[in-house]
Amino acid sequence: MNILFVSSEIFPYAKTGGLADVSYALPEALRQEGEKVYTIMPLYNDVDRDEHKIIYSGLTFEYWLAGVRHQFDVFYKENNKNELFVFNPILCNRWGLYHDQFGDYGDNALRFGLFCYSALEVMIRMKLKIDVVHVNDWQTSLIPLLMKTRYSLPQKTVLTIHNLAFQGIFPKKVMNELELDWEKCFKFNGLEYFDNVNFLKAGIFFSDHVTTVSKTYAQEIQTTKFGERLDDTLQINSYKLKGIVNGISTEIFDPKKDKYIEKNFSLETYKKKNENKSLLCKELNFKEEGRPLFIFIGRFTPQKGVDILLEAIDLFKTYEANFVILGSGEDLYNHAFGTLIGAYENIHIKIGYDEAFSRRLYASADFLLMPSIFEPCGLNQMISMKYGVLPIVSKTGGLKDTVIDFTDIDKIEECSLGLGITFDEYNVFWFNHALAKAFALYSNKSKFEKISKHNMGVDNSWKNSAKEYLNLYKS
Ligand code: ADP
Repeated sequence: MNILFVSSEIFPYAKTGGLADVSYALPEALRQEGEKVYTIMPLYNDVDRDEHKIIYSGLTFEYWLAGVRHQFDVFYKENNKNELFVFNPILCNRWGLYHDQFGDYGDNALRFGLFCYSALEVMIRMKLKIDVVHVNDWQTSLIPLLMKTRYSLPQKTVLTIHNLAFQGIFPKKVMNELELDWEKCFKFNGLEYFDNVNFLKAGIFFSDHVTTVSKTYAQEIQTTKFGERLDDTLQINSYKLKGIVNGISTEIFDPKKDKYIEKNFSLETYKKKNENKSLLCKELNFKEEGRPLFIFIGRFTPQKGVDILLEAIDLFKTYEANFVILGSGEDLYNHAFGTLIGAYENIHIKIGYDEAFSRRLYASADFLLMPSIFEPCGLNQMISMKYGVLPIVSKTGGLKDTVIDFTDIDKIEECSLGLGITFDEYNVFWFNHALAKAFALYSNKSKFEKISKHNMGVDNSWKNSAKEYLNLYKS
């Protein structure tokens, strides 16, 4: 198969979350299956062209929309010309992918609309032979609409919804600057959404197939509780909706060769995991002796359960345990966590995005805290398992599909999924109850170690899921 994979962020060039990880790892896994996969993303200012050896392809073109001339320059990786990048000043000439410190950029509809047009223009102008165009989230959701309306292209389309909470909702006037044909776009209600336009909704209507990133989330988003006001749309389109669980890159997330961690380790050299923990505890001035280390890594947004964390900090400070919280996000939470920095000797808080520190945390931790309200798939729980960590998760979406509560299992060795602690109800009482289970388990050193080692061996790679995508493309 020849696939064009379009994404607004791809690791390691630009990343704000799991979308970038997936956009790196899935195309890689498909290539390993022998398929030809082109990727295309915007060449934002944030992308380091020299470090990643991204060079000009020689192709520059212009495209007129609503009487305005837009210019695009196409780049590729020096050593892999299937990795494409497109530069346009409106789309790329600023810092931050989607927002600055004041909020979302006001022209995001135009920016990502331009990206959608340019991805198709690149495909056509470079004469790429493509069977399936795979688009991701709202930023690329106009592509199926454009292909079926303005361009009348024959290739099939797959849309993957990585997080239904982000839909790309804009006032109707953006239709004009993007020259979107009212009649055609509103056929079947495709783009209209409570008198606004909704890019993701258009993607759902106009794609041949829609996937989301776990089986449970595919069910959840068809309900009013999780449907983010698109549950009706998803129910109507459920005949083409499928859940395929994400994997993680075993190249990137491998404690044996992870360059960010001090002491590389594997199942054979498991004891070195503790050396990482000791080094980290020393650096953060934690009392280490006999204490479990809990970590949280993620965006500070209600979805990730940060309200529970903030509420639980009053308990954390009283525990014989250490906690590290790494993240950033909404101002309210940056501020709330910010005021707690340095307040307690057993709680370390770092506000910001720090790939290197996150790896050292995975390598050192005993438990990962992930009390999400909803979680399409979640990568942290799978990454942490590779580093021998036990995730403590709420039973929702992909967390439900990838983490089994260790008390529900009789024979650990017979379980193919990762083990951790799960809780049903999103509130501090049950979260704290899960922590109590963690303490009890941690006091049984040999059992804890057995589970930790089990998790390191669990296969959360892309191999199986990439095959599922391939079957979908072939269908
Ligand atoms: P999201 O909903 O944010 O996409 P995922 O669990 O799917 O959540 O993916 C999160 C990814 O981003 C993981 O690779 C995680 O380690 C990383 N990450 C999140 N926040 C931070 C941070 N502050 N510093 C470093 N890495 C982070």
